[in-house]
Amino acid sequence: MVNLSKKVCISGPTDRPWVKAQLSANGCHVVLGKSYEGFPEHHYYEAELIDLIDNSDVLLVSSRERVPRSILEECKSLRGVVKASIGVENVDIKAATDLGILVCNCPVLENFVGVAEATVGLIVALMKRLKLNEQDLQQGGWKKEVNTGELILGKTIGIIGLGRVGRAVARRFQGWDVQIIAYDPYVKKVDIQGLGVDLVTFDEVLRRSDVLSLHVVLTPETHHMIGLKEIKMMKSTAYLVNTSRGGVINQEELSQALRKWMIAGAALDVYEEEPLAMGNLLRSIDPTRLILTPHSIGNSPLARDSGHRMAIQIILTLLEGEPPSGVLNPEAIPRWRQRFSNPLP
Ligand code: NAD
Repeated sequence: MVNLSKKVCISGPTDRPWVKAQLSANGCHVVLGKSYEGFPEHHYYEAELIDLIDNSDVLLVSSRERVPRSILEECKSLRGVVKASIGVENVDIKAATDLGILVCNCPVLENFVGVAEATVGLIVALMKRLKLNEQDLQQGGWKKEVNTGELILGKTIGIIGLGRVGRAVARRFQGWDVQIIAYDPYVKKVDIQGLGVDLVTFDEVLRRSDVLSLHVVLTPETHHMIGLKEIKMMKSTAYLVNTSRGGVINQEELSQALRKWMIAGAALDVYEEEPLAMGNLLRSIDPTRLILTPHSIGNSPLARDSGHRMAIQIILTLLEGEPPSGVLNPEAIPRWRQRFSNPLP
């Protein structure tokens, strides 16, 4: 007889019944919230999310839920908050650390390589003017000199944020005979030996890039790191790609810049507010110069499955009273051990 004293709340479940089944098979009582696929626009009221989490030991969140300090304080049994993908800016990690709650993400290879592959695809689509040519053909047009794309050979690809995704993008461009430059103040030359990337200053990456691709995590430091002032420093022929987090770009200023042709075009997978509102200014920009995808361009069933398998392992480790490897707030571990070091039966 399995003792169901471990409780896991999946507030934004994907429609993958095996996640619940595997946790249940390991003795967990699983509470499911509104599925992410079924209710992508649902925003829980704080009280509603607190009621759902109740006395759960672990919370598995999607990118849709906000988990502020007040929720972490209220849900006193929570020992961990886990996300089956990479970005966790929706969780107040500082508050979790203060309270001795561990926060974990699941940066599986299939996820960050998927984003890198998609980034290359977006760059190619922009530089080859794919949407413009397709639209022209659909409207009865045929090849036109003015619609031709550009050769990527010899161009400068600029990367801001040279972590997992940024490096995977750089690796994918090896062999394209391009110059790859990057700005990341936290990366040392020795960390990227053999990657074929020159580390440069922020100003340089803005000024020199023919394509600028953003791959930073969203922090107070990276919030709105690209706005009108930075776009003015870019080449008027340059393209901007953002598959990181919407808040890294001042979206309103980017819309203005695109409208004034301050840069040639952009591709965005992420937005300051998601889903992107129907009245958002970005929707009024000429769609042949702006590719908009719904925070899904790097996704694949394999990446989602793999992320959830990793999340299950992390949840079970937390329930056994052990800090999983790769915890995002390791400084919370001493307090966490005081509070939760006993494995749950
Ligand atoms: P990572 O933590 O491995 O890399 C982030 C890099 O940003 C680090 O190297 C860090 O040093 C750098 N950085 C931090 N502050 C910086 C600053 N001020 N200036 C320049 N660089 C700075 O993260 P990752 O796994 O590579 O993910 C990168 C981004 O992609 C994240 O925002 C993540 O949420 C996002 N992401 C999006 C999707 C999607 O579906 N679109 C999927 C996965 C990841």
